[in-house]
Amino acid sequence: MTRVLVVEDDSKLARALVINLRARRYVVDSAPDGATALTLAAAEPPDVLIVDLGLPDMDGVEVIQALRRWSRSPVLVLSARSGSEDKIRALDAGADDYMTKPFSMDELLARLRAATRRTAEASPTTPDTGVGRIATADFSVDLVAKRVRRADRDVRLTPTEWHLLEILIRNPGRLISQRRLLQEVWGPSHGTKTNYLRVYMAQLRRKLETDPSHPRYLITEPGMGYRFEP
Ligand code: CA
Repeated sequence: MTRVLVVEDDSKLARALVINLRARRYVVDSAPDGATALTLAAAEPPDVLIVDLGLPDMDGVEVIQALRRWSRSPVLVLSARSGSEDKIRALDAGADDYMTKPFSMDELLARLRAATRRTAEASPTTPDTGVGRIATADFSVDLVAKRVRRADRDVRLTPTEWHLLEILIRNPGRLISQRRLLQEVWGPSHGTKTNYLRVYMAQLRRKLETDPSHPRYLITEPGMGYRFEP
């Protein structure tokens, strides 16, 4: 059984989430503020959390930061805020995914299933490196041999392309912020040079995607980051 903690101060929305999740056999706890959420999470560790960013006592980002000191359970952020900066902060704090309000319940349930599936698949000792080899219908990546093959041929990647691809592939389905990619690949002082990312992601798509202008695997979340969709 999967335990979900809903952190949402809008009581109507919280109730709708609880009813929908219980109907799908999730065990659900609900917290109307950050302090209650952290207390509940410590008492009954959830398998996945749904966290609103605008809470009465603290920011949802602070809740995620506090949780991440001891928990790796996936966090799906709900945000009514239109600006992307809050969502990027949430992702950098350790959130796994985000949805903007208003949202469709079906989509939320699908993303929740994806998030819990990823946890189940990842190795418990090496959460960020649970895979050695990934094969899609169009290409395969061997993370140990550092080899990419497409249509029975080796694909040559530059070290920078490889580094980017590796981060995305080690986090399948997860949205990785532009800042994290830039800082990991180019270094701490390059966190805002998003034009680098656009150039290198375009190169990777040309090498890996069947239709690089309509990518199937290397997905852009505008203003946020990138996601490898297996
Ligand atoms: Ca709120």
